[in-house]
Amino acid sequence: ATTLDIASVREDFPGLRAPGGEPWHYLDTAATAQKPQSVIDAVSRAIGADYATVHRGVYSRSAEMTLGYEAARRRVAAFVGGQEAELVFTRGATEAINLVAHSWPDKGRVLLSVLEHHSNIVPWQLAGWQVDVCPLTEDGAIDLDAAEALLTREHTMVAFAHVSNVLGATLDVERAAALAHSVGAKLLIDGCQAVPRLPVDVAALGCDFYAFSAHKLYGPTGVGALWGRAELLDAMPPWQGGGSMIEKVAFDGTTYAPPPQRFEAGTPAIVEAIGFAAACDYVAGIGPGRIHAHEAALVARLREGLRGMNDVTLFGPAESAGIVSFAMNGVHPHDLGTILDEENVAIRAGHHCAQPLMAHLGVPATARASFGLYSNEDDLEALLRGIDRTRRIFG
Ligand code: PMP
Repeated sequence: ATTLDIASVREDFPGLRAPGGEPWHYLDTAATAQKPQSVIDAVSRAIGADYATVHRGVYSRSAEMTLGYEAARRRVAAFVGGQEAELVFTRGATEAINLVAHSWPDKGRVLLSVLEHHSNIVPWQLAGWQVDVCPLTEDGAIDLDAAEALLTREHTMVAFAHVSNVLGATLDVERAAALAHSVGAKLLIDGCQAVPRLPVDVAALGCDFYAFSAHKLYGPTGVGALWGRAELLDAMPPWQGGGSMIEKVAFDGTTYAPPPQRFEAGTPAIVEAIGFAAACDYVAGIGPGRIHAHEAALVARLREGLRGMNDVTLFGPAESAGIVSFAMNGVHPHDLGTILDEENVAIRAGHHCAQPLMAHLGVPATARASFGLYSNEDDLEALLRGIDRTRRIFG
């Protein structure tokens, strides 16, 4: 694969320019990605000239919108290697995980890991699962040897992040699937941080469910997806009721539509789904493999720069996917974030919705820099300069 022409890629993203026109170093793509013009245009057409409801109208505009919405489902499914009948549009990864946690008929024990995002912890607690926790290896990856030892026949679900939003650690999904299946459990993967950074093929990975959000994949907010094996979705009852998810409604008994419609109650996020598909097209056009290589090179350079600073602690494995968390001695991450903002460098400081992981690391918060396909050397240099300035300020 040839390398990315970053200068020309950056031209596609109006959000990368600061208001005054000066450079803006956006290093918070793990929180949400900036959008390419093709996504903005697709959203604008869908909410403008093409706008109508789906699935109900008999008039041609609505019929066309329905085709557009269902084509979006096909494109998003294909992007992760799935079939359209297996792709449920949700509000995001959070709702996708809540769907499985609530609807899965056999709520026994679920094995999670220490590094999970709150959205892959709280839904299981709320739905009444008994939660077990897999520890991490020393460098901050999910310890699959420990998972093997912990799993029992009572586990009906294993739910792990493909890529950690704090540490960038990448899971060996194939091995996790084999371990889960060996005790008769299903494997749900939280793929929020993986789909923007790695080639993902759910069929090859061998997982049972895969959850992700459009907005981290250069698409709109308010939409995401749950991919699930057809026979599993088929066995799951609906979890929200309303229009569109039914076959026939009567006061003496209602029947439900087959998946994926069964899980899409109400008027869906039509415009956002179309933008989601445009984002998949954009990322597929660039190539997830090239994006991964580009971000890996930036991670290696940043970690090298930070390792040279004796007042900085680095978290996570050396081979992290696009995300670097660190702490600076004597400087709260929020102060670092504020000083960096004065230099037009945007990083995330906080617990990153992963409080159990913060407790494990023994810190209240970390500073996190995360790259996207548009990140460049200037962004990285600006961050390192900002850290040096912060050190001088804190003296
Ligand atoms: N899982 C991970 C690993 C994430 O990084 C995030 C978003 N920070 C989520 C789940 C939740 O995604 P959303 O808020 O888009 O539903």
